[in-house]
Amino acid sequence: MAAARCAARAAGALSRRLRDGSGLVIGGRVLLAVEPRAVSELSRDRSITLVSGTNGKSTTTALIVAALGHEAQVATNRDGANTAVALAGVLASTDVRRVVLEVDEDWLPWAVRETRPEVVVLTNLSRDQLTRHHEVGAVAAAWRSGLAGVPLVIANADDPAVVWAALAGRRQTWVAAGGHWTADSLVCPACAGRCIRSGPDWACRSCDLRRPSPDWWLDGRVLRNATIEVALVLDLPGRFNVANAALAIATVHHAGRVSVQDAADRVGDVHSVAGRFERIRFHGHDLRIMLAKNPAGWIELLDLMAGDRYPLVLVLNAEGVDGRDPSWIYDVSFAPLRGRTLIVQGRRATDLLVRLEHDEVAATHVPGSLAAALWKLPAGRVDVVGNYTAFRNTVREVRRA
Ligand SMILES: [Zn+2]
Repeated sequence: MAAARCAARAAGALSRRLRDGSGLVIGGRVLLAVEPRAVSELSRDRSITLVSGTNGKSTTTALIVAALGHEAQVATNRDGANTAVALAGVLASTDVRRVVLEVDEDWLPWAVRETRPEVVVLTNLSRDQLTRHHEVGAVAAAWRSGLAGVPLVIANADDPAVVWAALAGRRQTWVAAGGHWTADSLVCPACAGRCIRSGPDWACRSCDLRRPSPDWWLDGRVLRNATIEVALVLDLPGRFNVANAALAIATVHHAGRVSVQDAADRVGDVHSVAGRFERIRFHGHDLRIMLAKNPAGWIELLDLMAGDRYPLVLVLNAEGVDGRDPSWIYDVSFAPLRGRTLIVQGRRATDLLVRLEHDEVAATHVPGSLAAALWKLPAGRVDVVGNYTAFRNTVREVRRA
C-alpha cells in the first residue's frame, strides 16, 4: 500500500507540473491495480463529501470548496476527472482530512461503498451520454440502493429521481434547486406511475412519492431556510448556477464551520470552474466559453442566452466522454437561436446543421479551429458552446494563445 501510494503521489506531482489531471488519474490507476481497496483505506478517518448528478456536479463541488474558505484545507478533484481512478489519485495525493469529491453518476454507488461519506450531495438526473449511461430510472435505482445508510443526503427536491434515491439515506436536507428540464421525470421512479407537476410541486398519482417540503428554497436570487436568508450575487451566469450555489451553501451550512453570509460571499467570488463560463480575450473577440453536454444543460443555457444577440459558435463532437450518439440534439428546441449569427464546428457539425435546419435556424459550418470561426465574425462579444471534448479543445486553444 505504501509503495503504491508513493507511485500515485509521484504521478500526482507530475500532474501538477503538467497542469492537468492526467497524472492523478495515472497515479490512481497504478494504485488501484496494486491495491484494489485503496480508496477504502485512504478514506479512513476522513470527512468526505461526495457530489453527483448529471449537470452541475463540477460547479457545485467547486462552490462547496470555495465556500469553505481558503483557510480550510480541502482535497478535491478540480479538473473534473470523477471516476474510480481519479478519486483514488486525489485521495493518495494528500493527507488532508476534509475531502470534497465530484463523482460520476455511474460510479456513485461504488464511491459511497468505498469512501463511507458523511454527506452526499445530489444535483439532478437526466439523459446524458446515451451510449454509456443506462436510462435515468436505472441510474436512480442504482443510487437508491447505493445510498442506503448514508448519514445525510443534501438533494434537489425538484427532481423526482433524485428525491427517490435520496430517501434511501438516513437523513435528508432538501434544497428547492429547480430545473427547466422535466422530460425525464414524467414517470415515477418508484412505481412507474404518472408524475404530475403543478407549478414547482410534483407528486406521483399512484404512490406516495411527492415533492418533499424544502428546507432551503430560492426567492429569485435570495436563498432562504426557516431562519436564514442570504442574497446570492454570483459572477457565474444563469439560474442553474444559483441552484448549484444553493446546494453548496446548504452543504457548508451543515458542516457548521462557516456563516451563510461568508459562504455566499465566497461563492460570489468564483468566476470560472475548470474553464466553464470563462471570459477571455482571444483574436480580437471577448469570448464566453460554456459547456452543454446533454438536453437539460442545453435548455438551461438557451434560457441564459435568451436575451443576448451576440454571435454564437456551437461545437459538437461525439468522441470518448461525449458518448458516441449525439441524437440527443433532437431533444432540444434550438428555435430560440433564430436570427442570431451562428457558426457550427466539430466532428458532428453536419448533424448539428441538419438539426438546426429542422428548427429553421440558419448557421454556417466553418471547419477547423475556433480561430478560423472567429475570423468570420466581427470583433466583439462571442459565446462559444461545446459538448465535453469540444469544450475541452476550445479551452486548450484559447489558453495556448
Ligand atoms: Zn409512484
